[in-house]
Amino acid sequence: MATKKLFTVENLTIVAIFAGIAYGYFLHDFALATKVVGDIYLQLLKMLIIPLVFASIYIAITSLSGKDELKSIGIKAFAYYLSTTALAVILGLVVFNIFNPGNGEHLLQLPQEINITKKELSISDFLLSFIPANIFEALSKGAILPIIFFTIFFAVGSLFIEAKKRSLLYNFFDSVNDAMMVLAKWVISLTPIGVFALIGATVAKNDLEPLFELYSYVLTVLLALFIHAVITLPAIAYIFGGFNPYRYFLQIKEAPLIAFSTASSSATLPVSLEVAEEKGGVSKKVAGFVLPLGATINMDGTALYESIAVMFIANISGVELTIAQQITIFITVTFASIGAAGIPGAGLIMMTMVLDSVGLPVESIALIIAVDRFLDMFRTSINNWGDLLGAKLIEQLLRRS
Ligand code: ASP
Repeated sequence: MATKKLFTVENLTIVAIFAGIAYGYFLHDFALATKVVGDIYLQLLKMLIIPLVFASIYIAITSLSGKDELKSIGIKAFAYYLSTTALAVILGLVVFNIFNPGNGEHLLQLPQEINITKKELSISDFLLSFIPANIFEALSKGAILPIIFFTIFFAVGSLFIEAKKRSLLYNFFDSVNDAMMVLAKWVISLTPIGVFALIGATVAKNDLEPLFELYSYVLTVLLALFIHAVITLPAIAYIFGGFNPYRYFLQIKEAPLIAFSTASSSATLPVSLEVAEEKGGVSKKVAGFVLPLGATINMDGTALYESIAVMFIANISGVELTIAQQITIFITVTFASIGAAGIPGAGLIMMTMVLDSVGLPVESIALIIAVDRFLDMFRTSINNWGDLLGAKLIEQLLRRS
């Protein structure tokens, strides 16, 4: 019995992370060669995303007892997403201003060959990016945000059709959802092997040296992420939801671990849904609505990281940012984190928009690229933890009302 408990997928995943680091560091070439094993695992997870997003949101909305319940979950979810993202950015700015990493250091030259396309901050493009002109195009491209937008509309529209027809659609998507969850369980059982190969390849590919060169920046980001994950978010959960967030973390820890290893919120979604429903006590209707949406637009870790990264770039470029510019950072970072896709490195690309908003050259992200993958792993697990905590919090709030 005791051995059975010891060799759980979660425990083996933790071992796989450490073993993967050693593997990538000491057996560099092997680790690069076995990257394909990690890629297969990742691809299997990704394969489930679109059907799961579609089915889980559809059944979440159509199983609500009425439009009032939908409104109530929707408002709570958005209030949670926005307030926690804002708190993350504020925390990032405060921690940055306390430690002031990079102040007085003028390090690194901008590499010549860097090729970065700037993201423009245009409200109309931002709004239009939500609406799919062609849902099949969005599905085939895996454009999650437009798919979510369509599914919400489709599901809400279904609430207005004949009950018999609605139940036909409901049963169909419910069955799709259940079948996908069975597949998700199968894929999850491969996690330790997948994570071992992914981490090994990441460590082998990324030089560890820049981590030491940019240590003041790296430590500031990690400290702020840690405070957000261990103090801010749990405090919100405890105060508003009345549950023990740390106990909940132990139940669902597999998802943040996979987010850490894959650096992708989207790829982690099948796992998040599984653990929230099976282990975390979150109902299908809340998890199905809050988690896919959260994985796409609620990125506390990304928001926090971007605010610190921009300030750090300003510091090492010798640019003093005014309070007004810090407020601009606050606003643009919030949008940038909403717009960032749940894939590796998306936060860095969106940051070009933030740099531009305060007049810093977008090429300067080259200064922090070397440590981005490393920080991406941490910020993605905080993104995921924020979503899972939000799902539980909303579940508790609904139960109480
Ligand atoms: N990799 C992050 C995620 O998937 C996004 C980012 O690059 O910050 O959540």
